[in-house]
Amino acid sequence: MAEFSIIEHYFKRTSNTDVSLGIGDDSAIITPPSSQQLVICADTLVAGRHFPLDTAARAIGWKSVAVNLSDLAAMGAKPHSILLALSLPSVDHDWLAGFSQGLFDCCDQFGVSLIGGDTTQSTQLTISVTALGWIEQGQAITRAGAQVGDYICVSGQIGDAAFGLQHLGHPLQQRLDYPTPRCHLGQQLKGLASSMIDISDGLAQDLGHILKASNVGAKLQLEQLPLDASLKQLDLQQAWHYALAGGDDYELCFTISPQNFEELSRQQLDVPLTIIGEITQQTGLLFEYMGKAHPLHVHGYQHFA
Ligand code: ADP
Ligand code: MG
Repeated sequence: MAEFSIIEHYFKRTSNTDVSLGIGDDSAIITPPSSQQLVICADTLVAGRHFPLDTAARAIGWKSVAVNLSDLAAMGAKPHSILLALSLPSVDHDWLAGFSQGLFDCCDQFGVSLIGGDTTQSTQLTISVTALGWIEQGQAITRAGAQVGDYICVSGQIGDAAFGLQHLGHPLQQRLDYPTPRCHLGQQLKGLASSMIDISDGLAQDLGHILKASNVGAKLQLEQLPLDASLKQLDLQQAWHYALAGGDDYELCFTISPQNFEELSRQQLDVPLTIIGEITQQTGLLFEYMGKAHPLHVHGYQHFA
């Protein structure tokens, strides 16, 4: 099967009406809504590196979109469309059917269109997705706005994906394979959160990026970490390791003033939020357990370590 038939068969679909020109020409065309800024990001998944080699094709398709929508969510942006650069070792129709199913499931759930891409042959299965979204001028939530006294919050549960990776076949493997980008929450936080990041490389490391960009520190209450029942059964050190150093959760971590948190609590949310700590003047990340200092050393995922 030639490259063109693969695109035609698996990836060409009618896109949203607000895509002026989708798949089929040299480039796609979209008309930006007036007074909105374009928010754009890319993420690559390499087989054996970012997912186990035997991961279901449908999960790979879902996740390649979800991780990008999560980056848009972490800015407060509304997702619009994606481009897909696919490098395949061979043409495997069962794989392509599962992969495109997962990819479009995620696109459909969040109202996103696939508007173009590239398809090549290479020894390593590699999926690179670029995602585009919109945000009102100047409303994006960066990593740089955390203020002393802000609460530090996370959505959902953390550590699930890392636990799932170590216990393949356990129900938490779903959280590894089919992460939920927090698109709606991200947009709700516009004008409320002072800084935000999505948790892809472990909470400690990702929160560290906020602290560095905002030039502040943080104190976390370990007993507040929102853990799944399966993690609560573990030895505390082990559970904290999954939650703080495990990657792939794709939950949002954000800082917010106590007043704005009050306002947020009055809104309807589609995912639970937990306050896990507070922003401090003194730089660095400190941990407390039951009101007492609890020194911990955690490292997140490092790509070139
Ligand atoms: P060109 O050679 O001009 O770069 P291609 O032959 O690579 O064009 O692609 C033809 C059309 O198919 C383009 O609109 C491109 O964006 C789209 N396309 C190619 N690969 C993919 C893919 N994996 N997913 C979605 N669209 C794709
Ligand atoms: Mg061309």
